[in-house]
Amino acid sequence: MNKRIYMDNAATTAIRSEVLETMMPYFINESGNASSFHTSGQNARRAVERAREQTAAALGARPEEIYFTSGGTESDNWAIEGVARANTKKGRHIITTAIEHHAVLHTCEHLAKQGWDVTYLPVDEHGLVTPEQVEAAIRDDTTLVTIMYANNEIGTIEPIPQIGAVCRSRGVLLHTDAVQAVGHVPISVAEQNIDLLSLSAHKFHGPKGVGALYIRRGVRIENIMHGGAQERGKRPGTYNQVGIAGLGKAIELACADIEGNNRRLSQLRDHMIAEILRRIPGSRLNGHPTLRLPGNVNVSIAYIEGEGMLLHLDLAGIDASSGSACTSGALDPSHVLLAIGLSHETAHGSLRFSLCEDTTREEIDYVIDRLEETVRKLREMSPLYPGKE
Ligand SMILES: *Cc1c(COP(=O)(O)O)cnc(C)c1O
Repeated sequence: MNKRIYMDNAATTAIRSEVLETMMPYFINESGNASSFHTSGQNARRAVERAREQTAAALGARPEEIYFTSGGTESDNWAIEGVARANTKKGRHIITTAIEHHAVLHTCEHLAKQGWDVTYLPVDEHGLVTPEQVEAAIRDDTTLVTIMYANNEIGTIEPIPQIGAVCRSRGVLLHTDAVQAVGHVPISVAEQNIDLLSLSAHKFHGPKGVGALYIRRGVRIENIMHGGAQERGKRPGTYNQVGIAGLGKAIELACADIEGNNRRLSQLRDHMIAEILRRIPGSRLNGHPTLRLPGNVNVSIAYIEGEGMLLHLDLAGIDASSGSACTSGALDPSHVLLAIGLSHETAHGSLRFSLCEDTTREEIDYVIDRLEETVRKLREMSPLYPGKE
């Protein structure tokens, strides 16, 4: 194959051509400031309001409950810090999980340094947290529960509607980092009792650097940025109308046939998982077998280094990612893989393939062939592998 095979869609996705076409006029002709009174400004403003309607429709929200941001990281920071600071009269206790994205974990750690108490709920071997765990952790001084909709590494989908029901009955706000879920699994904030929800356009074939925070009407939240009156005074800064128009188009396209896409992609995913487990001895699946994102395949392969496999796959034209993050020059195993109970060695031998709607069965079969070959080669060189003749 001469074209690269991209299986790192959980890191970021390619922008759709229809999305780019929607954005182009705002780069070129309609470049007025969306807050200005003149015609160019008003044309830009219309693009922003159209995107707000598209985003609200995709989530079952009202347009006035959507606030545009610079992406998932900002939305997570704003939701957590903004709600924590606006509700100190009630208390300073936050509940989250051990497997959140760093945009959530590091925001919680930042608040902990300033006197907040944070409970990190453990997860089971599949990465699930239960509504009962949440219920048991809620105290009189709890102001916020923040639990991701779906995990970016192992793909596990959390029982958010049930957790939402618990939070609503106990009078505690629920924020969910739905950056991996929006555009991939159907979500309704109203039906699922979600009070705040983060999303990011570049995870569903939109542009990078733009996202949104859904804030249910009536939720008390402080600004974390201060400036102009944009976004009803809650999120200042000149409108990124190019990015926002792209987000609106991308979310509309992603949700147009979300059930159909989900079904097709889940079949490809299950084929890939089954073939890897069948053909590669010592391989195991990470994450929940069924409650998982339609495009997520995360496996650990015994006696192999994830980084070594990535290099070989890269040379074979395949983009994937591993279960380690390079922080300060050393390879640290992912906090998510450790939280589901993997040893450091097993976590280091992990690979994530994240598919998208454009992934073909042919590509998957090519990737499995190369993976099987690579594992055989690396094991032949490994002094640790007991299966050698
Ligand atoms: C990508 C991602 C983020 C960060 O979003 P950005 O738009 O890249 O800042 C946050 N949470 C999860 C679960 C993600 O996958």
